Amino acid sequence: MKGPKRMQLPRHVDIGSGILRGIPEALESMRIRGNFLIVTGPNVTREYGKFVYDMLSGEHDTEMLSVSGAKKDACKVVMDRLSRNPRDYLIAVGGGKTIDIAKYSAFHSQCEFISIPTVLSHDGIASSRVSMANSEGVASIDAVAPIAIMMDTEIISDAPYRFLASGCGDSVSKNTAVLDWELAYRLGKEEKSEYACALSLMSAKIVMDSAEVIRNGGEEGVRLVAKALMGSGVAMSIAGSSRPGSGSEHLFSHALDSIVPDRALHGEQVGVGTIMMMYLHGGDWREIRDFLSRIGAPVTAGDLGVDEESIIKALTSAHLVRPDRYTILGETGLSEVAAGRVARRTEVI
Ligand code: ZN
Repeated sequence: MKGPKRMQLPRHVDIGSGILRGIPEALESMRIRGNFLIVTGPNVTREYGKFVYDMLSGEHDTEMLSVSGAKKDACKVVMDRLSRNPRDYLIAVGGGKTIDIAKYSAFHSQCEFISIPTVLSHDGIASSRVSMANSEGVASIDAVAPIAIMMDTEIISDAPYRFLASGCGDSVSKNTAVLDWELAYRLGKEEKSEYACALSLMSAKIVMDSAEVIRNGGEEGVRLVAKALMGSGVAMSIAGSSRPGSGSEHLFSHALDSIVPDRALHGEQVGVGTIMMMYLHGGDWREIRDFLSRIGAPVTAGDLGVDEESIIKALTSAHLVRPDRYTILGETGLSEVAAGRVARRTEVI
């Protein structure tokens, strides 16, 4: 028999148009009371952060902090602030990076975390995990699940469409992430959660069945992607690891990050990675490619703004990013010849 297991899930999830205008009432109905630190990114998200600040500061002791730069440094800034001035709740208002910074800092400062994404570019909005660069590459670190998630579809649909398309790329990646997990399970390398696999695959299917609606960029599509990313975030919480949401396609994207940093969005890179890894798994990679094309997400090296050589380099080094994570890339990875073949056959290069 397996030992005890603890799962961290979000307690409140609000999705709707204009819901941020009612944030004081929403928090009150969730019985979230106390003092707040709002963490935002620079530029546009700072304005949304200021909006939330203005809504809350009348009745609550509220502070705001805008962060930028490398994730690790920004976490230190937030945690220093919290150690000088402890808060009950840390509210992240912003994109994926801001949410990761707040989630990590909240966990290490023993305060509750509230997630208010202004874009839906990846599935970190709902999970208890943070991906953070370390000396060995990239690690998925256990942090804290948000006590509340508020997704205002009006704000999210106002953001550039590219972010939503990127969220769809992160969503389709569940197809290969689950295949990699099943492979590792069949080889006796890991335990597997059927429930987490099913939930993760279903969230990808919702998105893939709704290309036209999403392509419109309206609030209906935003709502669909929001629910799908919630689903995969929850699947990772159930699994207690990022396994159901992150496989060889994520390793490829992390490898690409270290070769050509900040070239494309996370979800855009894993989407292209999913096409190639699905080819390796012998699955329907064309279906993935067609879907990404239809929603206007990158499908080639050129679309990502990356040269062919970097794609090959990322493919041959991806297995080194997280050696503990067994995937279709195996323990020795792809040779340069094999990598070139995969990338050309799938028309990525
Ligand atoms: Zn991802």
